[in-house]
Amino acid sequence: MSIIIVSKGKELEPWVEALKEKRPDLDLRIHPDTGNHQDVAFALAWNHPIGAFQEYPNLKCISSMGAGVDHILKDPNIPEQVTVTRIIDENLTQDMGEFVAAQVLSYTRTLQEYKAQQAEQTWQPLPYKRAKEVRVGVMGLGKLGAHVAKVLTALGFQVSGWAKSEKKLDEVAVYTGQEAFDGFLAEAEVLVCLLPLTEETKGILNKDTLAKLPQGAYVINVARGEHVVEEDLLEMLDKGHLSGAALDVFEQEPLPQGHPFWKHPRVFVTPHMASKTDPASVVPQVLENYDRLKSGKPLQNIVSSQKGY
Ligand code: NDP
Repeated sequence: MSIIIVSKGKELEPWVEALKEKRPDLDLRIHPDTGNHQDVAFALAWNHPIGAFQEYPNLKCISSMGAGVDHILKDPNIPEQVTVTRIIDENLTQDMGEFVAAQVLSYTRTLQEYKAQQAEQTWQPLPYKRAKEVRVGVMGLGKLGAHVAKVLTALGFQVSGWAKSEKKLDEVAVYTGQEAFDGFLAEAEVLVCLLPLTEETKGILNKDTLAKLPQGAYVINVARGEHVVEEDLLEMLDKGHLSGAALDVFEQEPLPQGHPFWKHPRVFVTPHMASKTDPASVVPQVLENYDRLKSGKPLQNIVSSQKGY
């Protein structure tokens, strides 16, 4: 049984190396040079060409090469018998915690303002906020969001979280479901988006919802670009309702030349690198699922096609 990798634009060498190192005799093929399509039951995927999986009649599992699966589920042609799995990885979680903490602290300690002042050779201490005075709202309390909430509480921030189902997290005020969303937004001086991209969450940060944040709120999006209606975010920044935004993900990536975010004085742009999947770290779980598929055991980290995450 062979494994195929189906991806547009991802650097595949580290994946091939990591897979071959762990399993030198692995029958690994890269789409579209995959030989006899009948042999293929397991695929690793990232931004695959839509419809590509229809070419593999015996495909049973598509494993995302990252935590998100929106890039797979947006394909309406995923064969019915296929199970989609995703990556859950300690390094990925740890890295996201560090990145969000850095962005939240950059906001409370006004680090971006000092960068601008340095460019003007201006020596001007600015007021800052203590962690205990600031409430951060984390949208999505899954593997990444729950960890981010934990890191922020450890730093002394007041933390709220919003999820679909009820849950208990130490020192986190949890808001559940659509009916609690407005109350959650109203308290979040800093808003962190760590939702999966689904039909329900697409465009969730728009003029109406951003207006429900406190005056001067700061938005950090580390989930998917399509969670944010970009022109609405720009409008809320330019109106002064939002004090700034740190954006790691965008509707179009790479962010196109000339996009207003590039030069916006209150937007901090990073190139979708908040937390990167390290092939060497995640290959063992990919091979575990491959082995499970071969021996007919239940797969791990299965995505609900109904929920979309
Ligand atoms: P999980 O699937 O573990 O968690 C998703 C969370 O979102 C859950 O708590 C879920 O609620 C909640 N949620 C989903 N839909 C809704 C909704 N409609 N209303 C309220 N809450 C909702 O995902 P991860 O934490 O692993 O990852 C989150 C996202 O982060 C990924 O999908 C990916 O897009 C992004 N990501 C970004 C990276 C980057 O470098 N920028 C790197 C890795 C991931 P419940 O618990 O009740 O089901």
